This record gives sequence, structure tokens and C-alpha cells, in this order.
Amino acid sequence: MTGGSIWVKMESRQVSRSVGKTNDVVDLYAVQCCICFKWSTVPTKEEYETIRQSFKEDPWVCFKKQGRSCDNPGDLEYDTSRMWIADKPNIPKSPPGFNRILSRRSDFSKFDVYYITPTGKKLRGPADVEKFLQEYPRFKDINPSDFVFSSPKIPKEMILGTPAERGDCETHSNKKLKRS
Ligand SMILES: [Zn+2]
Repeated sequence: MTGGSIWVKMESRQVSRSVGKTNDVVDLYAVQCCICFKWSTVPTKEEYETIRQSFKEDPWVCFKKQGRSCDNPGDLEYDTSRMWIADKPNIPKSPPGFNRILSRRSDFSKFDVYYITPTGKKLRGPADVEKFLQEYPRFKDINPSDFVFSSPKIPKEMILGTPAERGDCETHSNKKLKRS
């Protein structure tokens, strides 16, 4: 199984820098069903991170959303006017109070990942995390490996339309899903 065949996607577009406290470029979270490839939107970042953290073992399927099956239309249609980015699966959920931010460089060369701490500090890499956790003993129970700074790649053409490979899904569906 390869990580590249798992698609967790989000919408990303230019946001005005004057709006909001951060320049998180993500304004919509969505996941793709590994059986029918339809999209479901994920209402909150927290929920999205929960799905993402075990995405490889537990890929998304339509019926996880209440009242939904693969026979229903998805929440979103594939839309080339949007910029879709395949996120990395299995990134640990951000520790409580910490906010993981994806920031796109203005030249579109890459994303940077950083965390905003409950104290408002910006952590840009493992060294910052280590320093922060030492500095604030009340966060000492947090595992430094919960901070992951690897960022999704920006596709050359800015649009991804490639469906997930079926292999992964069927491996899981044979085990976990009963399809009638
Ligand atoms: Zn489906």
C-alpha cells in the first residue's frame, strides 16, 4: 500500500490577508469516498483532522455520513475552478488548543506548515516544538511526534482529478465493509 493513493482533499484558494487572524489558505475540507469517488464535505477542521489521522487504516466511505450511501449524490462536484490539494493522510490530530496551519507561499512554490500554540506562539519546526514544550511544563504531556510539518505538494497544474486507486479501498472493504 502506498500513501499516494489515499486522497484527502481540501479546497484552497487565495484569501485576503486582512481577513482572519491567520493566513490559513484552506477554507473547505472534503474527503473522497474510496468506493464511488464522490465528495463529502467535512464541516470542521477538528472533524477533518480526526478523519485524517487514521485515513490509511480507515478510508472514507459515503455511508459514514449519516443517511448517505454511494447511491446518493456527493456534496460537491468536481470543479476545475477550484484548487484541490491532496492532503497527507495519517497526520496526528493537533494537540488540544494547538492549531495546525497550512500557509501557501505567494509564489505557489510550496506550502509551509506551522502550529499556533494556545499562547499564540508560532511553531515552525521540530526545534520550535521542543523548545516550547520545555518552556511550558503544563504542555509536557504532549508528544512532540504529534506535530507534523510535512506539507502537501502543490500539483503542477493546480488541479487534481485523478481518482484514488481502487486497490487500497478494496483491501479495506473486504475486511470491513459489507457491500450488498
Ligand atoms: Zn461512496
